[in-house]
Amino acid sequence: MGKTLEQLVRNNIRNLAPYSCARDEFKGEARVYLDANENPLNAPYNRYPDPLQLSLKEKISRIKGVKVPQIMLGNGSDEPIDLVYRVFCEPKVDNAVAIAPTYGMYGVCADVNDVEYRSVLLEDDFSLNADKVLAAVDEHTKVIFLCSPNNPTGNLLNSSEMEKILRSFDGITVIDEAYIDFASNESWTKRLAEFPNMIVLHTFSKAWGLAAVRCGMAFASEEIISYFNKVKYPYNVNALTQNLVSDSIDKIEQKEAWVKMILEERERVSNELKGYPCVLDVYPSDANFVLVKTNDAQGIYAKLVDEGIIVRNRNSVVLCGGCLRITIGTRQENDELLKILVTCK
Ligand SMILES: *Cc1c(COP(=O)(O)O)cnc(C)c1O
Repeated sequence: MGKTLEQLVRNNIRNLAPYSCARDEFKGEARVYLDANENPLNAPYNRYPDPLQLSLKEKISRIKGVKVPQIMLGNGSDEPIDLVYRVFCEPKVDNAVAIAPTYGMYGVCADVNDVEYRSVLLEDDFSLNADKVLAAVDEHTKVIFLCSPNNPTGNLLNSSEMEKILRSFDGITVIDEAYIDFASNESWTKRLAEFPNMIVLHTFSKAWGLAAVRCGMAFASEEIISYFNKVKYPYNVNALTQNLVSDSIDKIEQKEAWVKMILEERERVSNELKGYPCVLDVYPSDANFVLVKTNDAQGIYAKLVDEGIIVRNRNSVVLCGGCLRITIGTRQENDELLKILVTCK
């Protein structure tokens, strides 16, 4: 305990004078805009978008119960993942700790930023052991990444183990909740006030059906979010994306109906698969995919490809030998998959 945010942030970022764009200087409505060297014709696409996406954030604020200054929007949640490194981790000096197996982008962004990445194996049942994670921390550890529900294992991490990390670690803890809409627990966003060094990530790419529009969300203290705003590209979320996401939030019942269908299908597909000869285990899932242990991941993967069905082969991932990660599709798509898998010996 006891490091201030100022001590955690890289010196160059703390001292950074951010780029000031025309739309930063004048906010509000005017009759004539001659400030940003835009073309006066071709409305509405001639104008630069709001760099802070305030009207979209108002809507997100209402559905998530998080205040606008505690929200950062990015070009997918991949953008805030990269920003965590750029804001907090000094290349060649600092390090980040993450669970394994987990989402690959934490490690890729560490490599891009020349930051050491330390993996700590989950238990055999994919549960989190806080003490093991904390044992990998040293004085140069700035960030711990926890993904819950975790990709590719599908399970929620135990919340009391997560809380132990949040309470014992004096750096930044990132909790990636990309799959939270498919889980039954409450989001960690409800506890932002309690943990000022926590960053929670959500995305429009999964439950909302908007992977193509690229919009991710980071929720954290106002101070952390203002560092993100200082470092991000000024117009990182384009106007088409802002408008489309905004319209989707107005139709939130659509998302809820999709989630309900996917959860029913997850149940049905999991139960079916459990009886198949080639299936050794179907791990419990809190996400929109299931991790399935088979007797021959390579062979089954290749057979599915032959039939025009693509799943994710996780055979070579730590703790995932023999495993395929199968996204839950429509009922018809899932039936096509099951029809092939039932014949595998
Ligand atoms: C899919 C996924 C994301 C989403 O990334 P976007 O850049 O928002 O599309 C984030 N984290 C995890 C663990 C994921 O599986």
